[in-house]
Amino acid sequence: MPHEAISVFDMFKIGVGPSSSHTLGPWRAAMLCIQSIKKKTNLNAIISIQVLLYGSLAKTGKGHGTDIAIMLGLMNEDPVTIPVNSISAKIAAINASKQICLANELWIDFQPNHHIQFLYTETLPFHPNGLSFLISQKDGEQWSETYYSVGGGFVVKEGDCDAIKSSIELPFPINTAQNLLHWCMKTGLNISDIVMENENSWRAESETKKGVLQIWEAMLDCIYRGCHTQGELPGGLQVRRRAFDLNKKLMRQVYYANTQEWLSQIKKGGDSFQYILDWVSCFALAVNEENASFGRVVTAPTNGAAGVIPAVLLYYIVFCDGNSEDKIIRFLLTASEMGSIFKKGATISAAMGGCQAEIGVSSAMAAAAITEGLGGTQRQVLMAAEIAMEHHLGLTCDPIAGLVQIPCIERNTMGAIKAITAAQLALQSTPDFAKVSLDKVIKTMWDTALDMNSKYKETSDGGLAVNIPISLSEC
Ligand code: SF4
Repeated sequence: MPHEAISVFDMFKIGVGPSSSHTLGPWRAAMLCIQSIKKKTNLNAIISIQVLLYGSLAKTGKGHGTDIAIMLGLMNEDPVTIPVNSISAKIAAINASKQICLANELWIDFQPNHHIQFLYTETLPFHPNGLSFLISQKDGEQWSETYYSVGGGFVVKEGDCDAIKSSIELPFPINTAQNLLHWCMKTGLNISDIVMENENSWRAESETKKGVLQIWEAMLDCIYRGCHTQGELPGGLQVRRRAFDLNKKLMRQVYYANTQEWLSQIKKGGDSFQYILDWVSCFALAVNEENASFGRVVTAPTNGAAGVIPAVLLYYIVFCDGNSEDKIIRFLLTASEMGSIFKKGATISAAMGGCQAEIGVSSAMAAAAITEGLGGTQRQVLMAAEIAMEHHLGLTCDPIAGLVQIPCIERNTMGAIKAITAAQLALQSTPDFAKVSLDKVIKTMWDTALDMNSKYKETSDGGLAVNIPISLSEC
């Protein structure tokens, strides 16, 4: 069976909210298109670029900032490093000048309303998140490139859709949970050890550790910022940020400017069930409020579900025994392997599988990771992931007004709590007696995705999106 090699850094990507498939993916597609143009011809030969957005990308692209992301991608701005507070000014400058600077090298005429078309009624057959770039040269030659944003910020180019990364040979190739268990049983290694061995095929272990800790740093910064930023979320729904209020209440109105001091105060606050529950919710809300505000977040495995893993990891650090670099690294490695298995066996794209593919997968990733961290066996780790997904099966995607706010933000709190519950259940269970394996639940998730009505797949054509009346002005 062909094996797709997915690294921890494919699964966790630092970027900008609010959507991995509708913001980060198109952003990266635009950057890839620029690279492709440069390979094919001189950038100076280009006179115009038109962008066509199809399917789910067209339907919720406005709310997800797809047009903004594409413009930034065409300018070759890096989603990992761009100062997020500079984005509005860059877009305003394009709107005012009616010009864009391709790759920050070549100015061409560009009017967003004209050059980015939202084709609400058209869908490309390969994937609901398709986008095409129509490129015109000064000499009259025209050609197009089509990309698909297939979830979690992953992008494939038309023609490469069946290509599987095979350039790298991993010591432990894994497509399924059964494969993973096989390697664990054969070697006696923990899941995080197996993942690290595979990561060593890409780079030195020290680099992987450094990179994973940077991912955690970005997650923690995001939680801290979200807990200390007040106001309303953008987009017109008038959603008030709640992490700020909750943090303030739980901290008894005291502000801690230093993140570590803030964490140690949280720890000192006690260990009652309600107190911990409030904090886990607060952490998840904080991340997704940042995400909804076009803030810097880590895709994990998507942006809409970016709060689940950081919330569970911070719970592990503050309220359990997870406060060491080694434990944090192991947590994220194990989580990433679960995400990879779901991506290979089903999908992490809401446009393909609804919210079970986002919140469900992130919850399964977190459940597995914390189970290993709390001393679970490899089978218990897989069991925890299975339990977490089993109780997200069929979860639809129906964001109101196409914004990643309602139900998305609260849903991250649910995903985090379910992950912790699933881990506890698995830790108290004997996996030999489990009736449902992780591979079976992944298959069931995929079957459910195939059966799910398309209006529940990131289109805002069904569910809460049509039952909650709102009036947003067109912009
Ligand atoms: S409802 Fe779920 S899948 Fe849909 S945008 Fe929100 S978080 Fe993502």
